[in-house]
Amino acid sequence: MLATEKAGARPGTHATALLAEADRLMTVCNSCRYCEGLCAVFPAMEMRRAFADGDLNYLANLCHACGACYVDCQFSPPHEFDVNVPRVLAQLRNDSYAAYAWPRVLAPAFARNGFVISVVAALCVAAFILGFVAWHDRSVLIGTHTGPGAFYRLMPHAAMAWLFGLAFLYAIVALALSLRAFWRDIGDPVGVNSGSLWQAIRDAATLRYLDGGGIGCYNHDERPNDRRAFYHHLTFYGFLLCFASTCVATLYHYLLAREAPYPWWDLPVVLGTIGGIGLIFGPLGLMIAKLRRDPVMVDEQRLGMDFAFLAMLFATSLTGLLLLVLRATPAMPLLLALHLGVVFALFITMPYGKFVHGLYRFAALTRYAQEHRSFVTKGGA
Ligand code: SF4
Ligand code: SF4
Repeated sequence: MLATEKAGARPGTHATALLAEADRLMTVCNSCRYCEGLCAVFPAMEMRRAFADGDLNYLANLCHACGACYVDCQFSPPHEFDVNVPRVLAQLRNDSYAAYAWPRVLAPAFARNGFVISVVAALCVAAFILGFVAWHDRSVLIGTHTGPGAFYRLMPHAAMAWLFGLAFLYAIVALALSLRAFWRDIGDPVGVNSGSLWQAIRDAATLRYLDGGGIGCYNHDERPNDRRAFYHHLTFYGFLLCFASTCVATLYHYLLAREAPYPWWDLPVVLGTIGGIGLIFGPLGLMIAKLRRDPVMVDEQRLGMDFAFLAMLFATSLTGLLLLVLRATPAMPLLLALHLGVVFALFITMPYGKFVHGLYRFAALTRYAQEHRSFVTKGGA
């Protein structure tokens, strides 16, 4: 069942002016269909005759912002139809992060001040840790600590596990509830078949629809390239490797009774180093790519939210790698406190910023794979 067919859906009426504008564009595109080979948005659009809010949020999160449909469009400005699909879907995507956030009341504050909140939270946690240590045993702050358990001279492992476990749990619960609300609104609330899920995993892992129909992403000079896809991959796989490093280190601690820090050649350090390098160059490259995009195709008012998330990923990796290099020096306590502060801030801001685009896009890809299969099975293609 499409969102337009749900009880209570009102095709033609929308919650916001932006949703109404997206409806107008999709109606024009549905008559034109010139771009149907560029990505999944247009085939998904063609399976509908009317667009409820859930349908439009689904299409917005299916869009990878490659810009091809703006460059190719004969109705883009200055044409009177004023068709600008990438920018309107980007604005709608950013609205959708707040619309489905849990708890929703926090979303506007993070959307407006995400970077400031992240920096203040990171510095507060770092200052709290340093202040606590200074009050308890000032010599720990200026000493050199090496060998297993060195990090826990600053903060006992149990306290670290509780603090970060609770922040992580909060992020997981908030993200899961947001994803559930998004999934319910964009389509069929019944289960997903394994074939569609596998198709969505492949499409997400390869960024299949970020290639502008095969020629790459458009920037300000109308010369498409694959750089955005490359930096996106560095960021995504860098994040996964860093997460894997943390998981392995947790298993080492609880199953093997081996305490951090670990030697250079050990698995948590190898995974964290490779992932950390990806998280340095990926976010940096994406920030530069954003500055080089044609402003007409992006949601300029919410660029700050994108930069805040990329900056926090960059800061997480930078402090982590500096900690790795300088862990046997007196700089370790300060760097560890800063790294923990940044990681804490990343956790609590994740459900309200750009991080959710990964989850919503994966849900949209799964929905698309599901309805495309059903459409083909029924003989629609
Ligand atoms: S973006 Fe323009 S060219 Fe492409 S389908 Fe829509 S109206 Fe047609
Ligand atoms: S910007 Fe790219 S991904 Fe988004 S709708 Fe246009 S062609 Fe599709």
